[in-house]
This record gives sequence, structure tokens and C-alpha cells, in this order.
Amino acid sequence: MPSRMKDHVHPSPELNPEDLGGGVWSIPVPIPDNPLGYTLVYLLETEGGPVLVDAGWDDPASWDALTAGLAAAGTSVRDIYGVLVTHFHSDHSGLAGRVREASGAWMAMHTADAELVRGFAAAVRGDGTAQVRSWELDLLARAGASEADVEAMRRTPRWSVHPPPVPDRELADGQLADVPGRRLRVLHTPGHSPGHVCLHLEEEGRLFTGDHVLPRITPHVSLHPFDGPDADPLGDFLASLDRVANLPADHVLPAHKHRFSGLADRIGTILAHHEGRLAELVAAVSSGPRTLWQIAQRIGWSRGWEEMPPSLRRMALGETAAHLRRLERMGRVESVSGAEPVRFVVTGQ
Ligand SMILES: [Zn+2]
Ligand SMILES: [Zn+2]
Repeated sequence: MPSRMKDHVHPSPELNPEDLGGGVWSIPVPIPDNPLGYTLVYLLETEGGPVLVDAGWDDPASWDALTAGLAAAGTSVRDIYGVLVTHFHSDHSGLAGRVREASGAWMAMHTADAELVRGFAAAVRGDGTAQVRSWELDLLARAGASEADVEAMRRTPRWSVHPPPVPDRELADGQLADVPGRRLRVLHTPGHSPGHVCLHLEEEGRLFTGDHVLPRITPHVSLHPFDGPDADPLGDFLASLDRVANLPADHVLPAHKHRFSGLADRIGTILAHHEGRLAELVAAVSSGPRTLWQIAQRIGWSRGWEEMPPSLRRMALGETAAHLRRLERMGRVESVSGAEPVRFVVTGQ
């Protein structure tokens, strides 16, 4: 296909550090062994010194790419003034701790993600990891997984050895970030993570979207074992899309893939995708009471359920659960009371 040829002949320019003008640089930081390829770390020049938006995966090769990118931008890791982390995931927060050590910079993320990170750190220090693990396996049984399925999940590692670094500053919705001489507004956009933020360079119409709005792909939105009974991450995500759709931002700077314009159009496409997904779930439930496990098997995935390794099944179950929770909130689907494993039916059927 021509487009494929083009990719081969002209590698994506984002693979190299790039001066985007106006004191903003893009630095691709590789994520080893991950199909996403790299995190786009952004460098903002400010009167207080350079500030990073995200930092990349904690790995020696990623560190080398980050420090080389900073050198290309005419600065060094020692000069970093602060690190703004869009959300706690390791491809964004991973290297923030090492940057902080090398520079004395502050590191900030939203309060909701900071609370999670402190919880992960405590779990890894104590025996919380094992507790969360058994809790998760119980949830799988409640979701209708067979004993063999639960056993396969048990054998799959769940937690990374290193929890994300704990921030020393917390971000709140609506505040201006500490980037002296510039106006960078913090917008809380929960969904992909509880404390995800987008950052709006208001005077230049540039929006750093982290993983919230990406070109070509949609972020993983999942119900997690740590989510409470009132959590509705997909509802949060859809509301967060509405929230940023009409911002004055001609330039969208996401953390993966490539920069783009046409924010409202892209968000319209993502909303339509989830509408379709919700309709697909209603259809899967309408043929009778179904467990979460059965529903996840009945809807379309990019690869067949049978070929999915346990780690991908876990993600598919989390996404299905997030969509089911949204449908429950919308009054379209309900669980059959008193039954274990939990089964879902279409409301009123
Ligand atoms: Zn993420
Ligand atoms: Zn990411």
C-alpha cells in the first residue's frame, strides 16, 4: 500500500527530537518491548528553567534518549526546573524520579493519581501486593471465570517491581502550572486514569493531551480492582472528552503517535467508537443473563479471545467491565441480584 511505503521511505519525524517553535520541543523516549513504541515527552522553556511534560519509561535506553533529546534542545537534565506528569502510568511517570534526583526539580501529578501512587508504594513495601492479588482473583471468580482461567491469571505477573515515583507536588483542576512566564492551565480529565490531566498552553492554542486524546488509537479505559462501587471510569472519560472538545487549541500534542489538529473531530470519532461499543455490549447481554467473562468473549477484539494471553484478557475484561458499569449507570443493563457469579441482563427484559 502506498501509505505503508511512505512510512518506510520517510520515517516519522517524531522519532527524532524536534523543535516545535515557541520554546517547545518534542522528545520521543522509547518504551522497550511495547507496540506503542515511544512516549512523546515535551520540553517547555520557561523563565524558571526547562519544564518537562511527562518523562518516559524508566529504562537505561529511554534515559539515554531523554538526555540526548535535552542536549539537542540546548539544555541538560541538571537544569530541569519541574516535571508535570499527565498521569501515573509508567510510560509517563517512570523517569520522573530519576530526573528529579539529577536536577532537584519538583515533580507534580494530580491528587487522585498521587493517592494511587502512594497506595502502590505502600502495597509493594508491605504485603499489600498479595492482598490485592487475592482480591483480584476473587473478582475474576465473581466475573464468571472458570477455575482454570483463574489459575492462568494467577500465574501471570500483575505488578511491576517498581511502583511509579511519588510526586512532591499535586495538581488541581483549573490551576495555572508553575511554568514562569507562560500560562499553562491544568484540566482534570479523569477516565484513562483517575487523575489524568491535560495541559493547555492558553496563549498559543496548544493542548498537551497525554493519553486522553490520541490520534488513531483510543486509550485503555478500565474498571480496576482498586475502583470503588461508585466508580464509572468510562462515564468520566466521555465527560472528560466533552470537556476538552471545544477548547481553543489548534495544536494537539499527545503523548503517543503524532501531533495533530482537529481536536473536536477526533473526539467525535472517539465518542462514536464508544457508542458503538456500548451497543455491542447491549446486544451481547440481550440474549440472556451473562457473566462479565461471557460478555467479554462475545464482543469483538483486535485478536480472538482464544488467542489472547492472560494479560490481554485482563485488559479486555477491565474494558468490558467499564462499559458495563456505564450501561448500568444509564439504566440499560442491570445485574441479577443474589447470584454468583454475577450475571447481567438488559433492564426490563
Ligand atoms: Zn496511560
Ligand atoms: Zn501512555
